Amino acid sequence: MDPIPVFYDPRQNASDVVSFSPSAAKPALVVEGWRRSGVPIRLLEPLACTVPELCRAHDPNFVRDVLTLRCDNGFGGRSPAVAASLPWTTGSHLSAARHALATGAPTFSPTSGFHHAGWDRAAAFCTFNGLMVTALALRAEASVERVAILDLDCHYGDGTVDIIRRLGIHWIQHHTFGEAPPTADTAGRWLAGLPQRVASTIQGCELVLFQAGADPHLDDPLGGILTSEQLAARDRIVFEVCRNERVPVVVNLAGGYQRPVSRVVELHVRTLQECWEVHSGAAAESTSLCEGRG
Ligand SMILES: [Zn+2]
Repeated sequence: MDPIPVFYDPRQNASDVVSFSPSAAKPALVVEGWRRSGVPIRLLEPLACTVPELCRAHDPNFVRDVLTLRCDNGFGGRSPAVAASLPWTTGSHLSAARHALATGAPTFSPTSGFHHAGWDRAAAFCTFNGLMVTALALRAEASVERVAILDLDCHYGDGTVDIIRRLGIHWIQHHTFGEAPPTADTAGRWLAGLPQRVASTIQGCELVLFQAGADPHLDDPLGGILTSEQLAARDRIVFEVCRNERVPVVVNLAGGYQRPVSRVVELHVRTLQECWEVHSGAAAESTSLCEGRG
Protein backbone atom coordinates (compact mmCIF):
# COMPACT_ATOMS: atom_id res chain seq x y z
CA MET A 1 0.00 0.00 0.00
CA ASP A 2 1.13 3.55 -0.71
CA PRO A 3 1.91 5.87 2.22
CA ILE A 4 -1.19 7.32 3.88
CA PRO A 5 -1.92 10.82 2.53
CA VAL A 6 -2.05 13.60 5.14
CA PHE A 7 -3.13 17.12 4.21
CA TYR A 8 -1.14 19.50 6.37
CA ASP A 9 -0.07 23.13 6.27
CA PRO A 10 1.57 24.78 9.31
CA ARG A 11 -0.99 27.57 8.95
CA GLN A 12 -3.57 25.14 10.40
CA ASN A 13 -2.07 25.87 13.84
CA ALA A 14 -2.90 28.80 16.08
CA SER A 15 -0.38 28.27 18.83
CA ASP A 16 -1.05 31.47 20.78
CA VAL A 17 -4.37 30.19 22.09
CA VAL A 18 -4.55 29.48 25.82
CA SER A 19 -7.51 27.14 26.27
CA PHE A 20 -8.74 24.01 28.00
CA SER A 21 -8.75 22.52 24.50
CA PRO A 22 -5.33 21.83 22.94
CA SER A 23 -6.86 21.68 19.47
CA ALA A 24 -5.42 24.95 18.10
CA ALA A 25 -1.90 23.58 18.44
CA LYS A 26 -2.77 19.95 17.78
CA PRO A 27 -2.13 19.69 14.01
CA ALA A 28 1.65 20.14 14.36
CA LEU A 29 1.88 17.86 17.40
CA VAL A 30 -0.12 15.08 15.76
CA VAL A 31 1.73 15.29 12.44
CA GLU A 32 4.99 14.98 14.37
CA GLY A 33 3.55 11.95 16.21
CA TRP A 34 2.47 10.38 12.93
CA ARG A 35 5.92 10.97 11.42
CA ARG A 36 7.56 9.14 14.33
CA SER A 37 5.02 6.32 14.37
CA GLY A 38 6.70 4.20 11.73
CA VAL A 39 3.58 4.29 9.56
CA PRO A 40 4.46 5.61 6.09
CA ILE A 41 2.68 8.92 5.48
CA ARG A 42 2.83 11.37 2.60
CA LEU A 43 2.33 15.05 3.43
CA LEU A 44 0.29 16.93 0.85
CA GLU A 45 -0.46 20.64 0.71
CA PRO A 46 -4.07 21.64 1.28
CA LEU A 47 -5.81 24.56 -0.38
CA ALA A 48 -7.32 27.06 2.06
CA CYS A 49 -11.11 27.24 2.00
CA THR A 50 -12.50 30.33 0.32
CA VAL A 51 -15.12 32.60 1.89
CA PRO A 52 -17.82 31.40 -0.56
CA GLU A 53 -17.02 27.79 0.45
CA LEU A 54 -17.42 28.67 4.13
CA CYS A 55 -20.67 30.54 3.38
CA ARG A 56 -22.33 27.41 1.97
CA ALA A 57 -22.44 26.02 5.52
CA HIS A 58 -22.72 29.26 7.49
CA ASP A 59 -24.52 32.59 7.60
CA PRO A 60 -22.31 34.93 5.51
CA ASN A 61 -22.52 37.63 8.21
CA PHE A 62 -21.21 35.15 10.79
CA VAL A 63 -18.33 34.13 8.50
CA ARG A 64 -17.40 37.75 7.88
CA ASP A 65 -17.62 38.69 11.58
CA VAL A 66 -15.43 35.78 12.68
CA LEU A 67 -12.78 36.44 10.03
CA THR A 68 -12.70 40.18 10.77
CA LEU A 69 -12.62 39.63 14.58
CA ARG A 70 -16.03 41.23 15.14
CA CYS A 71 -17.40 38.20 16.97
CA ASP A 72 -15.93 35.48 19.16
CA ASN A 73 -14.51 32.30 17.69
CA GLY A 74 -15.14 28.86 19.21
CA PHE A 75 -12.47 29.42 21.84
CA GLY A 76 -14.45 32.35 23.21
CA GLY A 77 -12.02 35.06 22.05
CA ARG A 78 -11.04 37.05 18.97
CA SER A 79 -7.51 35.82 18.40
CA PRO A 80 -6.24 36.87 14.97
CA ALA A 81 -4.21 33.64 14.89
CA VAL A 82 -7.34 31.53 15.28
CA ALA A 83 -9.16 33.48 12.56
CA ALA A 84 -6.17 33.06 10.23
CA SER A 85 -6.05 29.30 10.87
CA LEU A 86 -9.72 28.62 10.06
CA PRO A 87 -9.51 28.65 6.23
CA TRP A 88 -6.59 26.20 6.59
CA THR A 89 -8.25 23.76 9.01
CA THR A 90 -11.41 23.59 6.92
CA GLY A 91 -9.23 23.61 3.78
CA SER A 92 -7.18 20.65 5.03
CA HIS A 93 -10.38 18.68 5.54
CA LEU A 94 -11.88 19.61 2.16
CA SER A 95 -8.60 18.92 0.35
CA ALA A 96 -8.32 15.54 2.07
CA ALA A 97 -11.88 14.72 1.05
CA ARG A 98 -11.27 15.62 -2.60
CA HIS A 99 -8.17 13.42 -2.54
CA ALA A 100 -9.99 10.47 -0.95
CA LEU A 101 -12.73 10.72 -3.57
CA ALA A 102 -10.25 10.93 -6.44
CA THR A 103 -8.02 8.08 -5.27
CA GLY A 104 -10.17 5.93 -2.98
CA ALA A 105 -7.38 6.05 -0.39
CA PRO A 106 -8.10 6.68 3.30
CA THR A 107 -6.90 10.23 3.83
CA PHE A 108 -6.09 12.12 7.02
CA SER A 109 -6.72 15.73 8.00
CA PRO A 110 -5.05 16.69 11.31
CA THR A 111 -7.88 19.04 12.27
CA SER A 112 -10.43 19.53 15.05
CA GLY A 113 -13.12 21.93 16.13
CA PHE A 114 -15.94 21.27 13.67
CA HIS A 115 -19.10 19.63 14.99
CA HIS A 116 -20.43 22.16 17.54
CA ALA A 117 -20.27 25.00 14.99
CA GLY A 118 -23.78 25.77 13.76
CA TRP A 119 -25.20 27.88 10.94
CA ASP A 120 -24.55 31.21 12.67
CA ARG A 121 -22.74 30.35 15.88
CA ALA A 122 -19.42 29.12 17.23
CA ALA A 123 -19.38 26.96 20.36
CA ALA A 124 -17.19 24.68 22.48
CA PHE A 125 -13.87 25.10 20.60
CA CYS A 126 -15.62 24.88 17.21
CA THR A 127 -15.91 27.89 14.88
CA PHE A 128 -16.58 26.70 11.33
CA ASN A 129 -18.08 23.28 10.66
CA GLY A 130 -15.51 21.69 8.38
CA LEU A 131 -17.67 18.58 8.02
CA MET A 132 -20.52 20.54 6.51
CA VAL A 133 -18.23 22.89 4.53
CA THR A 134 -16.68 19.80 2.94
CA ALA A 135 -19.95 17.98 2.25
CA LEU A 136 -21.53 21.08 0.70
CA ALA A 137 -18.46 21.87 -1.44
CA LEU A 138 -18.29 18.35 -2.84
CA ARG A 139 -21.99 18.34 -3.60
CA ALA A 140 -21.72 21.76 -5.30
CA GLU A 141 -18.83 20.41 -7.37
CA ALA A 142 -21.07 17.45 -8.34
CA SER A 143 -18.47 15.06 -6.88
CA VAL A 144 -20.96 13.28 -4.61
CA GLU A 145 -24.65 12.47 -4.35
CA ARG A 146 -24.62 11.22 -0.75
CA VAL A 147 -22.14 11.72 2.09
CA ALA A 148 -21.89 9.97 5.47
CA ILE A 149 -20.79 11.84 8.58
CA LEU A 150 -19.65 9.27 11.11
CA ASP A 151 -19.05 11.36 14.21
CA LEU A 152 -17.49 9.20 16.93
CA ASP A 153 -16.29 12.11 19.03
CA CYS A 154 -17.69 11.78 22.55
CA HIS A 155 -20.09 14.68 22.21
CA TYR A 156 -23.31 15.40 20.37
CA GLY A 157 -22.71 17.01 16.97
CA ASP A 158 -25.29 19.73 17.55
CA GLY A 159 -23.75 22.18 15.10
CA THR A 160 -23.87 19.62 12.30
CA VAL A 161 -27.50 18.85 13.12
CA ASP A 162 -28.31 22.59 13.13
CA ILE A 163 -26.86 23.17 9.64
CA ILE A 164 -28.49 20.02 8.20
CA ARG A 165 -31.89 21.17 9.50
CA ARG A 166 -31.54 24.82 8.48
CA LEU A 167 -30.61 23.86 4.94
CA GLY A 168 -33.16 21.02 4.76
CA ILE A 169 -30.50 18.54 3.66
CA HIS A 170 -31.60 14.97 2.93
CA TRP A 171 -28.46 13.62 1.27
CA ILE A 172 -26.25 13.45 4.39
CA GLN A 173 -26.37 10.34 6.60
CA HIS A 174 -25.30 11.54 10.02
CA HIS A 175 -24.46 9.43 13.04
CA THR A 176 -23.26 11.14 16.21
CA PHE A 177 -21.97 9.02 19.10
CA GLY A 178 -22.89 11.75 21.57
CA GLU A 179 -26.60 11.34 20.90
CA ALA A 180 -26.76 8.09 22.86
CA PRO A 181 -23.29 7.26 24.20
CA PRO A 182 -22.69 4.03 26.11
CA THR A 183 -21.19 4.00 29.59
CA ALA A 184 -17.92 2.31 30.44
CA ASP A 185 -20.03 -0.66 31.55
CA THR A 186 -21.90 -0.95 28.24
CA ALA A 187 -18.97 -0.03 25.98
CA GLY A 188 -18.35 -3.67 25.02
CA ARG A 189 -21.90 -4.05 23.79
CA TRP A 190 -21.65 -0.75 21.89
CA LEU A 191 -18.49 -1.98 20.18
CA ALA A 192 -20.16 -5.27 19.27
CA GLY A 193 -22.90 -3.34 17.46
CA LEU A 194 -20.54 -0.91 15.76
CA PRO A 195 -19.89 -2.83 12.50
CA GLN A 196 -23.63 -2.86 11.77
CA ARG A 197 -24.00 0.81 12.79
CA VAL A 198 -21.13 1.89 10.53
CA ALA A 199 -22.44 -0.19 7.64
CA SER A 200 -25.91 1.34 7.86
CA THR A 201 -24.55 4.89 8.23
CA ILE A 202 -22.37 4.66 5.13
CA GLN A 203 -24.80 2.67 2.98
CA GLY A 204 -25.30 4.30 -0.41
CA CYS A 205 -22.71 7.03 0.28
CA GLU A 206 -19.71 7.84 -1.88
CA LEU A 207 -17.62 9.24 0.97
CA VAL A 208 -17.35 8.94 4.75
CA LEU A 209 -16.28 11.86 6.92
CA PHE A 210 -15.01 10.13 10.07
CA GLN A 211 -14.52 12.10 13.28
CA ALA A 212 -12.09 9.88 15.19
CA GLY A 213 -12.37 11.82 18.46
CA ALA A 214 -9.98 10.84 21.26
CA ASP A 215 -12.26 12.22 23.98
CA PRO A 216 -14.39 9.10 24.60
CA HIS A 217 -11.25 7.74 26.33
CA LEU A 218 -11.65 6.46 29.88
CA ASP A 219 -9.09 8.95 31.22
CA ASP A 220 -10.40 11.98 29.32
CA PRO A 221 -11.88 14.65 31.60
CA LEU A 222 -14.79 15.05 29.14
CA GLY A 223 -15.10 11.36 28.26
CA GLY A 224 -14.67 8.39 30.54
CA ILE A 225 -16.09 5.60 28.36
CA LEU A 226 -13.65 3.62 26.18
CA THR A 227 -10.29 2.04 27.06
CA SER A 228 -7.33 2.56 24.72
CA GLU A 229 -7.93 -0.92 23.30
CA GLN A 230 -11.63 -0.21 22.75
CA LEU A 231 -10.83 3.09 20.99
CA ALA A 232 -8.38 1.23 18.73
CA ALA A 233 -11.02 -1.43 18.05
CA ARG A 234 -13.49 1.35 17.18
CA ASP A 235 -11.13 2.73 14.57
CA ARG A 236 -10.26 -0.70 13.21
CA ILE A 237 -13.94 -1.50 12.74
CA VAL A 238 -14.59 1.78 10.92
CA PHE A 239 -11.65 1.23 8.56
CA GLU A 240 -12.59 -2.40 7.95
CA VAL A 241 -16.23 -1.69 7.16
CA CYS A 242 -15.34 1.24 4.89
CA ARG A 243 -12.75 -0.91 3.10
CA ASN A 244 -15.16 -3.82 2.72
CA GLU A 245 -17.92 -1.54 1.40
CA ARG A 246 -15.40 0.29 -0.82
CA VAL A 247 -16.32 3.73 0.49
CA PRO A 248 -13.37 6.14 0.81
CA VAL A 249 -12.89 7.69 4.23
CA VAL A 250 -11.53 11.03 5.42
CA VAL A 251 -10.35 11.13 9.02
CA ASN A 252 -10.15 14.16 11.29
CA LEU A 253 -9.07 14.32 14.93
CA ALA A 254 -11.96 16.02 16.75
CA GLY A 255 -11.75 16.19 20.57
CA GLY A 256 -9.25 15.04 23.19
CA TYR A 257 -8.53 16.83 26.47
CA GLN A 258 -6.12 14.71 28.51
CA ARG A 259 -3.01 16.25 29.96
CA PRO A 260 -0.26 16.13 29.04
CA VAL A 261 -1.36 16.52 25.42
CA SER A 262 1.06 13.73 24.45
CA ARG A 263 -1.57 11.28 25.75
CA VAL A 264 -4.05 12.66 23.22
CA VAL A 265 -1.44 12.55 20.45
CA GLU A 266 -0.79 8.88 21.28
CA LEU A 267 -4.47 8.07 20.68
CA HIS A 268 -4.44 9.87 17.32
CA VAL A 269 -1.27 7.94 16.39
CA ARG A 270 -3.13 4.73 17.17
CA THR A 271 -5.91 5.73 14.75
CA LEU A 272 -3.33 6.09 11.97
CA GLN A 273 -1.77 2.73 12.89
CA GLU A 274 -5.14 0.98 12.79
CA CYS A 275 -5.80 2.47 9.35
CA TRP A 276 -2.43 1.30 8.10
CA GLU A 277 -2.88 -2.21 9.48
CA VAL A 278 -6.32 -2.60 7.95
CA HIS A 279 -5.30 -1.26 4.55
CA SER A 280 -1.89 -2.88 4.34
CA GLY A 281 -3.47 -6.23 5.19
CA ALA A 282 -1.48 -6.64 8.42
CA ALA A 283 -4.51 -6.72 10.74
CA ALA A 284 -6.42 -9.84 11.54
CA GLU A 285 -10.10 -9.52 10.71
CA SER A 286 -11.37 -8.05 13.94
CA THR A 287 -14.96 -7.31 12.96
CA SER A 288 -15.98 -10.90 13.58
CA LEU A 289 -13.98 -11.02 16.81
CA CYS A 290 -15.74 -7.97 18.17
CA GLU A 291 -19.16 -9.34 17.38
CA GLY A 292 -18.77 -11.90 20.14
CA ARG A 293 -18.05 -9.36 22.85
CA GLY A 294 -20.65 -8.25 25.34
ZN1 LIG B 1 -15.86 16.09 21.99
